[in-house]
Amino acid sequence: MVWQELSISVPHEYVEPISYLFSRYGKGLSTELDGEGRVLLRTYLTSGSRQRLARIEVGVRLVAAVEPIGGLEIRDLPEEADWQNSWKSHFRILRIGKRLVIKPTWLDLEPGPDDIVIELDPGIAFGTGYHPTTDTCLQAMEQYITPGMTVLDLGTGSGILTIAAIRLGAGQATALDIDSQAITAARRNFRSCGISKQVRLAQGSVPHPTAGAGQFDLAVANISARGVADRCPFILTALKPQSLFIASGLLETQKAEVASAAEPLGFTLVSEWPQEEWVTLVYTSPDSPPEATD
Ligand code: SAH
Repeated sequence: MVWQELSISVPHEYVEPISYLFSRYGKGLSTELDGEGRVLLRTYLTSGSRQRLARIEVGVRLVAAVEPIGGLEIRDLPEEADWQNSWKSHFRILRIGKRLVIKPTWLDLEPGPDDIVIELDPGIAFGTGYHPTTDTCLQAMEQYITPGMTVLDLGTGSGILTIAAIRLGAGQATALDIDSQAITAARRNFRSCGISKQVRLAQGSVPHPTAGAGQFDLAVANISARGVADRCPFILTALKPQSLFIASGLLETQKAEVASAAEPLGFTLVSEWPQEEWVTLVYTSPDSPPEATD
């Protein structure tokens, strides 16, 4: 069977849509920094997968209509190539914040005494730690999570932030994602990290029966400016009064969109975590519980 490698170099803000296409229609996904502000993405297909290739090509063209991105490169791999594992060679161990270490499952690591290790197989869903918003969410969580907290992870992807929350001492977490592939990947990662008992995982978004009113000490949503703004009222309902909301997935230029949804609800901005053109915002929820929202 002949395999093809598809690759494209894109500016940071196009990593998510192209990763989505690659992980949905291709086999495996790797991301690698490619010079200033750019990321090289790769996936693999059998050369007979015309439909899948066509979908990726159409998707790339749609993105290219918004912003000139690099062209899609397609090359045939030598037949003996271990395509199943070749994407793995592009990942490395990542250190984030003061103590967090993201370790792909297939790499060995001798952890230092203070290291908090997050073991992850990031092949098929978002959330590798390479994206600036994931990185800054992790840094903010490292600062704000205290032992025993109950955490809501909206848009869990690979489950990376939930695993970090538990490793940082959270007692319980609820992880939601609208994408069934993310749920499959997160479930596998939670199981292999041995944290399934502390996590409730479900497909969907807030409002959701697993995220009832006034349950959480901290919510993190690394989704998008629009997604955060839309879901804000439901996140507020799910939070306890005076709790933390880490909002991410937005560009610096989209801060106002999130602020205009969050601030009228009583959220107060407490810190900002910029990285490249992205930013993570940390809010506290108001003192009194919100009026019931439908
Ligand atoms: N939490 C991970 C993944 C972020 S990617 C990280 O920080 O790296 C964003 C994820 O949010 C995707 O898996 C996508 O399916 C999911 N998502 C997007 N909009 C959503 C919404 N409104 N509710 C729940 N999940 C959402």
